[in-house]
Amino acid sequence: MASANAIELLAQLNSGAITSEELARGYLERAERLGRLNAFVHLDPEVVLSQARALDSKRRAGQPLGALAGLPVAIKDVLCVDGELTTCGSRMLKNFRPPYDATAITRLKAADAVLFGKTNMDEFAMGSSTETSAYGPARNPWNEECIAGGSSGGSAVAVAADCVPLSLGTDTGGSVRQPASLCGVVGLKPTYGRVSRYGLIAYASSLDQIGPFAHNVADAALLLKAVAGHDALDATSVNLPVPDYLASLETPPESLRVGVVPEFLGAGLDPEIESAIREAIKVYEAAGATVKEVALPHSKYGVPAYYLVAPAECSSNLARYDGTIYGHRAEDFRPQYPNEKDIAPLVLMMMASRAEGFGAEVKRRIMLGTFALSAGYADQFYNQALKVRRLIKNDFDAAFGEVDVILSPTSPTPAFRLGEKTSDPLAMYLSDIYTITANLAGIPGLSIPCGLTKSGLPIGLQLLGPAFSEETLLRTARVFEKATDWHTKRPELM
Ligand code: GLN
Repeated sequence: MASANAIELLAQLNSGAITSEELARGYLERAERLGRLNAFVHLDPEVVLSQARALDSKRRAGQPLGALAGLPVAIKDVLCVDGELTTCGSRMLKNFRPPYDATAITRLKAADAVLFGKTNMDEFAMGSSTETSAYGPARNPWNEECIAGGSSGGSAVAVAADCVPLSLGTDTGGSVRQPASLCGVVGLKPTYGRVSRYGLIAYASSLDQIGPFAHNVADAALLLKAVAGHDALDATSVNLPVPDYLASLETPPESLRVGVVPEFLGAGLDPEIESAIREAIKVYEAAGATVKEVALPHSKYGVPAYYLVAPAECSSNLARYDGTIYGHRAEDFRPQYPNEKDIAPLVLMMMASRAEGFGAEVKRRIMLGTFALSAGYADQFYNQALKVRRLIKNDFDAAFGEVDVILSPTSPTPAFRLGEKTSDPLAMYLSDIYTITANLAGIPGLSIPCGLTKSGLPIGLQLLGPAFSEETLLRTARVFEKATDWHTKRPELM
């Protein structure tokens, strides 16, 4: 299990060298030993082992097996799993057990994966460091005093620390790619509509996508293939065939044109990251790619546009948590202030439930979004942001007329120290400066390991492509993997 790549493990399972139960036990022991990393928020060994045993007997009985047969996959705690705690890193949903599976989960089950617990995350996926989680932050396996990134921090840590070979996260503004980059693993945000969002607890519905974490590109391709595809239960999922991402992986894209955005390598970027990215550009040149500069002039408005669109959508999506049907309900909701004495008890109950159930960052976003949508301000804020969003998409369309992929850093800094940015939301928001525009434009993006800083923290390289170019992105990333060994590095963990 030391190297623990999904495809190698699959071969060992298929040859009978190990059973799914043995594999699950090995990972459970490791996850328990590394509990201090706080990657998992719900992990019931019996639930894991009973799936593994059922799979082993299916195998023994000679029944046909799915593409992930016996492989443990950890799930971000924002995806509904029938009967299992699904808490979104929030007090609001601390006892919530959904009565149904998300489509991505249905597909993992159909592929005979072993669902391996629920992973830690920023509350309702709002954050870049997993520090807004009601369960406390996840820790970076490369330096436990540092953040793991977010919001899918737990899913990134689970793979980076070899507690599981594969995991799923979600990416609304960077939440798969940024923690992948900070933890030294591969993370992919698919095109909007590639993976069904049914059963993904919504943060910002026009931006959210589910994506895989893995140690290498092939493993990510395997997991993406298993969960992608049209779903009648999500009207925004797109009805296009899912390519066999693995089959084409070893074939480098022909006459590859790589775009570089000069502003992305300038001010605000950590110098060690800049030099790792410049090295990566050389790797592509050496592999025969043409590297050329492209312009994304509206990208500088990406963060402000996102922080209007995403909170606006969140203020609507999170209106459902009011203590009446499910989620946290306040017990004591007597009026607190004189001006509350005429408010109906039902409304007081809702107010108190929301005040108690949500953390500070979620409240901040709900207030921002409510303001941005309110009469008299919507034109100035929300509608303006939608126009910027369109301009950002137009920039990408023009750039992809000239190049096949755009190469950039994933994150402007390596993992920062726990607590370093918690009191400065704007500094935290800037973590997503290179990732957020892909969500606004709906295009796919991938982060792969491309270096380590002098202090031993991972650096990630981002590749962006036009809508539904996941196959090209994966093949392009594979070119880099073949020429380097960053994806084989592992943190030293006791
Ligand atoms: N960090 C961004 C935010 O806080 C993105 C989060 C995400 O992709 N879910 O909203």
